[in-house]
Amino acid sequence: DIAIRFEGAGKTYPDGTTAVEALDLEIPRGSLTVFVGPSGCGKTTSLRMINRMVEPTSGTVTVEGRDITSVPAHELRRSMGYVMQQSGLMPHRTVVDNIATVPRLNGVPRKQARERARELLTTVGLDAGLGSRYPSQLSGGQQQRVGVARALAADPPILLMDEPFSAVDPVVRQDLQRELLDLQRRLHRTVVFVTHDIDEAVLLGNKVAVFATGGRLAQYATPEELLRA
Ligand code: ADP
Ligand code: ADP
Repeated sequence: DIAIRFEGAGKTYPDGTTAVEALDLEIPRGSLTVFVGPSGCGKTTSLRMINRMVEPTSGTVTVEGRDITSVPAHELRRSMGYVMQQSGLMPHRTVVDNIATVPRLNGVPRKQARERARELLTTVGLDAGLGSRYPSQLSGGQQQRVGVARALAADPPILLMDEPFSAVDPVVRQDLQRELLDLQRRLHRTVVFVTHDIDEAVLLGNKVAVFATGGRLAQYATPEELLRA
């Protein structure tokens, strides 16, 4: 059961940089798939081709059976959670309002969106009481947890995560990794996770896509297969 399919999908930026060569990859529904490889090998570009933050310049990307070019980019982006290294929270809105933003855009009434936001805080291991704070009043690790809660707020079947834990200290990172695994066991989303850290890839992934410099896929295997090789 395939959630995301890349078929000869490539990206050459307007300045002529080919970030991703023809990528062929099938991501199983409900899996946590990791894109790993050295800096500049096209991981972020590949991830962003899934929600049309980056438009492929060749080939096709299919999400849940639909060619993504047939779905308006804003609709596609809202239908997937996106978490990045900087939590990307809006500084002048409270934590609860940050989490409730996308549901509000999708027409969920304010009160309901806020209640759900408080629930999500506890889902990611935070005290619901933190909801009335502003992002600057939280630690880096707490902000990343809020980022995950915000990405989950619209109940997206697909969650895209771009080096979400690399800006926090190692101890907090381990907590966040453990919680992501736990969350995934409960929620069974299709998660695509970018990292340059092979240990993190092996720890988290059901499947690991190893990218090589020049935006080519070098390997696509389970962690067990990678460790055996
Ligand atoms: P990674 O996530 O593996 O670090 P990226 O996908 O961010 O790799 O980048 C792949 C390559 O594409 C790099 O050489 C990078 O400099 C280049 N690149 C990324 N974004 C752009 C852009 N908007 N314009 C031109 N080149 C870009
Ligand atoms: P990320 O943290 O997701 O890897 P970066 O900090 O590398 O993002 O890049 C931030 C922005 O700059 C992105 O929109 C990316 O597409 C763009 N960018 C990255 N590399 C280049 C490049 N070589 N030339 C132009 N734009 C780039």
